[in-house]
Amino acid sequence: MSTPLSADQLVKALRDEGLTVVEIAGWRTHNRNHKGPFGPVHGVMIHHTVTSGTSNSVALCYNGHSDLPGPLCHGVIDKQGRVHLVGNGRANHAGSGDGDVLTAVVNELPLPADNQADTDGNRYFYGFECINLGDGKDPWPEVQLLAIEKAAAAICRAHEWSERSVIGHLEWQPGKIDPRGFTMQSMRARVADRLQTSTTPLPQEDDMALTAEEHRWLAELRKFALDYHGKLADGTDDPRDVYDYIRGTARDSAALKAQVSALTAANKTLVDTVARLAADVGDLDPTTIVRELTAALESVELRLEIPDTTPTS
Ligand SMILES: [Zn+2]
Repeated sequence: MSTPLSADQLVKALRDEGLTVVEIAGWRTHNRNHKGPFGPVHGVMIHHTVTSGTSNSVALCYNGHSDLPGPLCHGVIDKQGRVHLVGNGRANHAGSGDGDVLTAVVNELPLPADNQADTDGNRYFYGFECINLGDGKDPWPEVQLLAIEKAAAAICRAHEWSERSVIGHLEWQPGKIDPRGFTMQSMRARVADRLQTSTTPLPQEDDMALTAEEHRWLAELRKFALDYHGKLADGTDDPRDVYDYIRGTARDSAALKAQVSALTAANKTLVDTVARLAADVGDLDPTTIVRELTAALESVELRLEIPDTTPTS
């Protein structure tokens, strides 16, 4: 299936993948279709914006600039992991690239080096601009990487493509460096993992009133549980066993947090006490110093008891 998704289909695909989607006013009819065709579509292209700040980056990608009219992509992925939709149809993002790369994408094969600019990429690729300065120093928050993974997977899932249909601008057009700061190989691996799990509810989960994203997580957790723990305790794969596992993990996590904060408090008390003793250390013998330190620490030792924490799950 290589007919471009409609606006509604695109929004649904992204939301079903668990993304927060922001629809910028006018995006549904904002495109460059008067300059050339859009479709058949064959892949998803990832870029960095070379900008910072969400609102001005989104505005730039919607409007474009004097040399390059907008839309400059279909969606802008911000540092909080939200996808801002700015275009629907042909967009000025891919430029001319290597036809051999397009052939590899169509056939879901490993990519050859991009050494030609002989093919109109705006016709064949969805584009996501990801907010990053692209200087190799601006960090990529995990929530943003996750959103890139989800957005790419959403489109691959909708078109029944594999992760091989996800490429970076740098793999398409000679001279391009984006995205910089993570490898497309690692992103394709993430997309491949994600595509292995379903967003469609399993029949026995219908009574749980979960969102599509929760169903997907549940499927992932079941896979995890089965992969790493063999068959679940009673030999079934009842998802409720997985909930018990999650609750247990949440309880352990809360206990660990309590221990860490108690240790932090103990450490601070120790430092404060040493600082106080250092002020008049000449008047104190070692036994007194040890006794004072011990007394100070005993006051916080009680807090090392693990509180009975009830996770909110
Ligand atoms: Zn680019």
